[in-house]
Amino acid sequence: MKYADLHLHTNFSDGTFSPEELVSYAQRFDLSCIALTDHDTVEGCARAATACDAAGMEFISGTELTAEHNDTELHLLGYFVDTKNEKLLTEIAKFQTVRQSRIHEMVARINEMGVPLEVESVFALANCKSPGRPHVARALVKAGLVANLDEAFERFLKKNRPAWVPKKKVSALEAIELIHQAGGLAVMAHPGLNRTDDVIPALVEAGLDGIECFHTKHSTAMSERYLLIAEKYRLLVTGGSDCHGFSKLKPLIGTVKLPYEYAERLFAAKKSADKKHPAAVAK
Ligand code: AMP
Ligand code: ZN
Ligand code: FE
Ligand code: FE
Repeated sequence: MKYADLHLHTNFSDGTFSPEELVSYAQRFDLSCIALTDHDTVEGCARAATACDAAGMEFISGTELTAEHNDTELHLLGYFVDTKNEKLLTEIAKFQTVRQSRIHEMVARINEMGVPLEVESVFALANCKSPGRPHVARALVKAGLVANLDEAFERFLKKNRPAWVPKKKVSALEAIELIHQAGGLAVMAHPGLNRTDDVIPALVEAGLDGIECFHTKHSTAMSERYLLIAEKYRLLVTGGSDCHGFSKLKPLIGTVKLPYEYAERLFAAKKSADKKHPAAVAK
């Protein structure tokens, strides 16, 4: 059997692996195809593609965008996006700017609570354009200000905790269009995590291509539920571990292995989308 993992992060966002390390783990777990889906960036894709080439693995360039529909937050995966697409790069640069100012705001709030975290230490640790809450949490642990990542999230960073600051969210319908105009396929990430089932029909209407049925945090029942939804709306089925490297636990890569036939259907869908919309084909 051949397998794929289509939801992975590197240190170009909040993962800890470099693209090369990620590919070497993928090889170790005998994956035939991976997709890189860093938050609000496609920067790691070129290096991951080169490493996959050398390893004889298929690679899909991607990104994970934070979106919303009717005040519901949801994550959209863009697969096969042209990593040089100007509009995509312009839009994600805006998300990155907000992510960076959000770090200042989160650290200011943590400081107000009497915890002397230095904002430079967060940026130094993140060392990327797309920093997020995990970087703040890791910097707190590194400075000895909390015992572990859980404590950092529980005390400060979880939604509605004192240092929680919302991210810039794009409308889900605009995000689908943004992904499409960059030659990509738009897939709803981990629907079971955000409990976002009621927004699915509107997203399908807007051209949603697929749904992530298999995910680390989906129970078997959830996966089955989303497989039925995929069938109902004729959506592509994807899945992945959402590995962030050495974060809290051991790396998740290898724990969700998507049967390769689903990746093949994704490749076929990309091919037929290119035929229908030649203008959006990656140069
Ligand atoms: P951000 O995009 O900056 O809001 O950060 C979201 C990321 O934080 C997610 O992708 C997870 O990797 C991580 N995360 C969210 N909640 C928790 C939590 N309670 N404990 C540890 N990591 C978390
Ligand atoms: Zn993340
Ligand atoms: Fe996500
Ligand atoms: Fe993710």
